[in-house]
Amino acid sequence: MSGSPDRGRARDERTDDWVEEHVEEGLEAIAGRALRPLARFVESSRASQGPVYRDSTVARITDDLALDAWIERGGLREDALEAFLASYLTWCTRLHHPGFLAHQIAVPRAESAVADLVSGMLNNGAAVYEMGPSAIAVEQSILGWMLGTARFRVDGSGGSGVLTHGGTLANLTCLLGARMAAAPEAWTSGVPRDLVVLASPAGHYSIARALSILGLGSDALIELPCDALGVVDGSRVGAAIDAVRESGRTVMAVVANACATATGLHDPLDAMGRACRERGVWLHVDGAHGASALLSQRHRHLLAGVELADSLSWDAHKMLGVSALCAAALFRDPRGAGRAFQQHADYFADIEGGQINPFDSTLECTRSGLGLRLFLTLGALGERGLGEHVAGLYDAARLAHEVLSRESDFACPYEPQSNILCFEYRPSETRSPDGAGDAAVDVEALRRELSRRGDFLLSSATVDGRRCLRLVVMNPLTDRHVLERLVDAVRSCHGGAQG
Ligand SMILES: *Cc1c(COP(=O)(O)O)cnc(C)c1O
Repeated sequence: MSGSPDRGRARDERTDDWVEEHVEEGLEAIAGRALRPLARFVESSRASQGPVYRDSTVARITDDLALDAWIERGGLREDALEAFLASYLTWCTRLHHPGFLAHQIAVPRAESAVADLVSGMLNNGAAVYEMGPSAIAVEQSILGWMLGTARFRVDGSGGSGVLTHGGTLANLTCLLGARMAAAPEAWTSGVPRDLVVLASPAGHYSIARALSILGLGSDALIELPCDALGVVDGSRVGAAIDAVRESGRTVMAVVANACATATGLHDPLDAMGRACRERGVWLHVDGAHGASALLSQRHRHLLAGVELADSLSWDAHKMLGVSALCAAALFRDPRGAGRAFQQHADYFADIEGGQINPFDSTLECTRSGLGLRLFLTLGALGERGLGEHVAGLYDAARLAHEVLSRESDFACPYEPQSNILCFEYRPSETRSPDGAGDAAVDVEALRRELSRRGDFLLSSATVDGRRCLRLVVMNPLTDRHVLERLVDAVRSCHGGAQG
């Protein structure tokens, strides 16, 4: 039944039937219906049951879930709702499965999922103070904590930031700040043609995309000198900046990876930071994935020198067990976040009054309260617990390296620094005696076969010119046993994929 026959009906003419059809079940009842199948799904995934990923097509799922019929008829409620959600889940990718090793997305903890429910029901925003006072207070505390962790804020002062829907938006926001510093006139009269950005070729595509959006064009991205794995050579950054300047162009920013998406390897922030400081150049650190290593005592050295940066992007929905999206654009300058967007700079006056209106720091107008996801997770685990969570995932990638390196038919092009590791499978029949004429395994066919069997999901990447399988350990349940089973699974899939 569509709603149209009711449209002209006055309130006092509404019958009990109308009310029954239009008033929703209470929150507790509906949440309970969603919770039962959801909790079963998560628990079975944790127990390695069900396929990590179920290969299908949009058409098949649309049909199986009768999506078009529900849109047309309505009435998806009560038992039908519960049954629908149960079917919906059967097509979902199981991030809580220990064999989910493909992508950099958190295996969310229940605290952050509950924050989603709470924020969703309240719909309190985080752009204008009176639309979400507690959401904005939580966001400011979270930002203060992140700024302190990055040492952009010392002894309670310095730094500024904003939470964003993802690292892509955080990178754009930070680079807007860099553009404001290098060419403040760009906001009103357009972008000067000589602006360039220096970054590693291993940078995330969101950097090149941001340059296009910012009006520099992706051609304005100049590659920094780096090694075969795409790690920037810190000793040559100063000379690279000088050379660009001598050619008459203006360096808007240097971008460092912490860490690079494909390999999980870190650029040398200290050397890059010093080269930039000496020359007055903005250093942006893309820490979307790896800034979380700052929380682990054993791993924070990977970001040594981050305090020299001018801006940092940092995703909580990757390494911190937080549901997507929750990222931060952080600036060392206390006014940096507010300078990224110019229309509402006068709202700074309100900060002194304790009522912060972050909409001058963000691309978005209506903006959800992103901070609660991270806050409830951090509140439950504490800073140390969260650091141990990161360290545990990083340790598991080292374990994967150890397990794979022991096998003569596997090879790792590098030792992992984070929880990301690329590796090659080289069964003996593909290897020539002198190593020169190695035939490559069809990585994509292998990956597809692996996911079709349902126990593992991996990704792939090109490292030093070679197509590799790529694993990203996001799940604390991924242990030695799981990794040893991966070795067997790859071997047996290779046979299957060939046959
Ligand atoms: C994931 C990632 C991004 C993009 O972040 P989203 O939250 O997916 O938008 C940017 N940079 C790096 C280095 C990343 O790993």
